[in-house]
Parts: sequence; C-alpha cells; structure tokens
Amino acid sequence: MPLRFFNTYSRALEEFQPLDASGRTVKMYTCGPTVYSHAHIGNFRAYLFEDLLQRHLELRGYAVKRVMNITDVDDKTIRGCQAAGVPLAEFTQEFKDAFFADLAALRIKPADTFPEATNPGHINAMVGMIKTLISRDLAYQAEDKSVYFRIKNFPAYGHLAHFNLDELQSTGRVKNDEYDKEHVGDFALWKAWDEADGAVRWESPWGPGRPGWHIECSAMATQILGEQLDLHCGGVDNIFPHHEAEIAQTEGCTGKQFVRYWLHCAHLLVDGQKMSKSLGNFHTLRDVLAKGYSGREARYALLRVHYRAQLNFTWEGMEEARQALGRIDDWRARLQERSACVPLAESGQEQAGRMLYFEEALDDDLNISAALGFLFDKIRETNRTLDQGTLTPTAARGWLDWWERIDSVLAITADEAELPGEVAQLSEARAQARLAKDWRRSDELRDQIAALGWEVRDSKGGQKVTRRGGA
Ligand code: AMP
Ligand code: ZN
Repeated sequence: MPLRFFNTYSRALEEFQPLDASGRTVKMYTCGPTVYSHAHIGNFRAYLFEDLLQRHLELRGYAVKRVMNITDVDDKTIRGCQAAGVPLAEFTQEFKDAFFADLAALRIKPADTFPEATNPGHINAMVGMIKTLISRDLAYQAEDKSVYFRIKNFPAYGHLAHFNLDELQSTGRVKNDEYDKEHVGDFALWKAWDEADGAVRWESPWGPGRPGWHIECSAMATQILGEQLDLHCGGVDNIFPHHEAEIAQTEGCTGKQFVRYWLHCAHLLVDGQKMSKSLGNFHTLRDVLAKGYSGREARYALLRVHYRAQLNFTWEGMEEARQALGRIDDWRARLQERSACVPLAESGQEQAGRMLYFEEALDDDLNISAALGFLFDKIRETNRTLDQGTLTPTAARGWLDWWERIDSVLAITADEAELPGEVAQLSEARAQARLAKDWRRSDELRDQIAALGWEVRDSKGGQKVTRRGGA
C-alpha cells in the first residue's frame, strides 16, 4: 500500500511522493515553540504527531531532513523579559532549555536544525524576503513604519484555510486595529520599533524594528531546506493565519509551490475545550511528571489517538496509558524469558507477514489507533500461546525482533532506569531505610513496590528494581 496523507491544502488523502528525484530524501518543516513560558502538553501533542510522522517515514526507508524553528522574539517574549527585568536572550534561554528537556523526556527525535529567529543570519534572510516582496508589489510600508503583506495582490491567499478575501472582511477573522493597513487582512512582515519594545530592535531598510512571526518561518525554512518542501506541519490553529501567510510570503518570493503536503493535527482538549495558555486550562509536562507519571507514559497517552481526531486529556487517560504500557512490558518480559537461548535476529522471515499490518496502518495517514489495536491483538494471542506453553523459543524471539522494528516508531520500550514516579519514590525510601538498617521498614517497602508490579533485588551495588517477571 502506498503512503498517503491528508493534505490540508486539497482537503483530500493524497499519495505521498517526495520532491526529490531519487525519492528517498524528505524535507520537513515543523513550527516550533514560542519560548516565553513552558510549552504545555497540547503543544507536545503536535510535536509528538510530527515525531510519529518522521519515525514512520524513516521506517519506510526515507531520510528525513527536519527543521523546527524556535520563536525567540515576539510580543510575549518581549513583555516577559521586561517583566523579569532581564535581556531578551537571557529570558528566553530558560524556556529553550526546558523545551529541549521536555522533548527528550517524551523521546521526540531532535530535528536536524532548530533555527532561532533572532539569529542575525536569519534576520538578514527575513529582510531579504521582505525587500523582494516590496519589489513585486506584494508588500508596502504603512504610515506606522511597519511593513505589511498586500494580500489583494496574491490571488491564492485563503486557499489553505479555504475562504476568500471577502469572507475575511465580513467574518472579522482579523481584528482591524491597525488603521493604516490597506486591507484588514494584510499582516505585518516587519514591525516598526516603538518604546514598548525597549532594547529589542534590529536595523532594516525601513527603520528599526523586528520581524513578524510569519516571515520567520518562511525565511528559516527556505534558507535551510530550500525553496520547496515536502511536508510542513503544525496544529490546526496554525493553518490560519500563520501557514496561509507562510505560503503567500514564500511563493510571493519564489514563484514556486512552497509545500507539497500540509499536515495539521487536531487539538488536545480539556473538558471539551482546546488546551491553551490563554484559557488557563493547561498542564505542562512538568505537571504530569510531578504526579508520578513518566515521560514515556505521557508520550503514549498523547500518541495513541489518530492525529486528526481531537483528544481529551484526562488523568484516567494517563492511567490507561500506564496500564497499556504495563501490558507491553509484561509481554516483552515473558518473551525474553521464553527466548533466552535464541540469538538475536535468528527468526528473520517468520515475522515478515506479521509486521505488515502495523506498518500499513501507519501508511494510511498514520492510523495509529489501528496499528495499536493490531499490536494488542497480537499480545493477547501470544500470551495465550505462552500460557499454553506452545510458543517456541524461536517464535518468541521473532516477536521480540518485530517489537524492535515497530518500536523504532513507537519509542515506548521501558527504560530500565525509568521507574514510574511512585515506584521511584518507594525505592528511594527503601534505600534510605536500608542505610538506617531499618529492615522492617525496608521489607514493608519491598511489599509495597511488589504490589505495584515491581521487584527489588539487593546486591552489593545496591538495590535493583525491575518490572516483575523480567528486565
Ligand atoms: P504555539 O507555541 O502556540 O505556536 O504552539 C506550538 C504548536 O502547538 C503549534 O503547532 C500549535 O498548533 C500546537 N498547539 C497549540 N495548542 C495545541 C493543543 N491544545 N493541541 C494540539 N496542538 C496544539
Ligand atoms: Zn511557523
């Protein structure tokens, strides 16, 4: 089955064909965080869907070249640094660091490049694009000294979001608070400096100021990946105005189709509403970890529903994720025990048929629900043959080999060092009890750890905690 994705541009499922003539390299751009606070897990749902996409393309043999930008200048970062009384770069650094730590905890593959909007080379590229747009009558400097994109001269404007310019005016989608724009929908490419911006300013042919958010992505994407990309992703709220604007700016400069496939994930909800900073209904990854869940549990909870379906975040959902992973861990432990004498990768061919369904489900617009459904069917079936003692060691090894392959996409194998929060706390308490030679307390804690499905073994090097029944 060919790979196919739902392209927001055409609103249709389309077969995936890379632009690269050799057909093996894929260029992918994903809009990254604005670093004025900690990203919330709704943001991470978007980054996890993009991770799934990248990993699946790699499983299918593509070399993915991926860029994710960091927006480190905008109204919010400027307000934030002023409130904190520190320079912009110092203010944003804390949130950049936190973002990378969260990516790692969620096992999201790092992009090849994380360009930052304030990098002078990228600012130059933005200025260069704005000059080109002005020379083509696609941009103008208004009385307020800011430079705006002239949407009425770009007939395709509105295609991605599927509306026309008249609608834009009548629905009031864009607030008309900038009196000197030619059209209510014209958006800023260069924002003229004013006192509220303090020390944050760059020189430009139009006077001091800073770039608009949309031009950042057009400039960094084309500077690093070239004029045309295979894939561009984000959450659905990025479709308009951000991605619509990116198309207008980039195609306005190059005259070529900017992006072949636009993929957008639906929102993570809380009580039926979008999880967002402005509604105040958000959880950061830190909040989730503080409740005793691990990064891999959060990864699973946010990945397990198809990216185009909305997903409601609940703590019960986190518990379900924990249970699902527990079943996978137990299954793997049983298979490891059964196959202990069989060398790795000896089972080869036997698994070929088995892996197809999982991968084909993902070929079909990343149908993760179907892929996971298939996995759990297989776990049930193999557990039955393990119970009956009819699964051969070679077959058990074969299942483990299959797991290795599909886990290159799922990335949810238990990390020995990664204990669930509660188990980690109990283990720590037990280590302390042993230091204090409180053997009764140590035994009580061992029982409590066992009740959670984990086993403690004591050795000279200290205690070792493993999931009951295997490593
Ligand atoms: P922002 O920092 O608001 O630009 O968002 C970063 C990324 O997260 C973008 O791709 C957004 O579309 C996405 N996003 C924001 N909120 C949510 C949410 N509740 N669910 C899924 N994706 C989201
Ligand atoms: Zn962007």
